Amino acid sequence: MTKRIPVVEKIMSANDRVAAENRAHLDAACVYSLNFMASPGAGKTSLVERTIQGLQDRLRLAVINGDIATSLDADRADAAGAVKSVQINTGGNCHLDAIMLQDAMPQLTLGEIDLLIVENVGNLICPSNFQLGTHKSVLVASIPEGADKPYKYPGIYRGVDVLVINKIDLLPYVPFDMDYFRRGVEALNPGLETFALSCKTGEGVNAWLDWVANEVEAERQPSVW
Ligand code: MG
Ligand code: ZN
Repeated sequence: MTKRIPVVEKIMSANDRVAAENRAHLDAACVYSLNFMASPGAGKTSLVERTIQGLQDRLRLAVINGDIATSLDADRADAAGAVKSVQINTGGNCHLDAIMLQDAMPQLTLGEIDLLIVENVGNLICPSNFQLGTHKSVLVASIPEGADKPYKYPGIYRGVDVLVINKIDLLPYVPFDMDYFRRGVEALNPGLETFALSCKTGEGVNAWLDWVANEVEAERQPSVW
């Protein structure tokens, strides 16, 4: 039984090595990248669509979609106006890893894009255990999921750089204790950058778009030190 732990560590470090290669590749091309994670149905693809539609005058955007079986989400990114969308069919696998991303990247011409969004498989557990090499990870939570999710899935809330709370248009109709939710988040990830918005109505989306545009701009600037 005790032999299992080193094997897992080896797999993880191989993943981290490839993730570092992915990052170097993106940095060399001045492409900023985000990893979207969420439970199924929280609105990752809707946020991809809003982000493309809101930024396509300012940025060239590509999407890599991880999906267990279909290309529906990649089709939506195409329809929204992505420069390019690439489907990774995980063949039943419940998360993306750095090697899958590395295998997909040659389908992109990095010199033609400013921002790469990776839409991970809908799952609150293991995607957070696999670094992809993206610059920041974004967790999309949503009001109908309930306010207890930070307490039930602490690993993913602890590990992300940004939180988007989607579907705030449903707050009047769904019991959701925002204070309880935010206290749970704050305990796991103090000061986490958070955007509350509705991809459906557009409320709150501009603050998110400005944040993304600023992040991309910072990646384009040569480092001062
Ligand atoms: Mg999706
Ligand atoms: Zn998994």
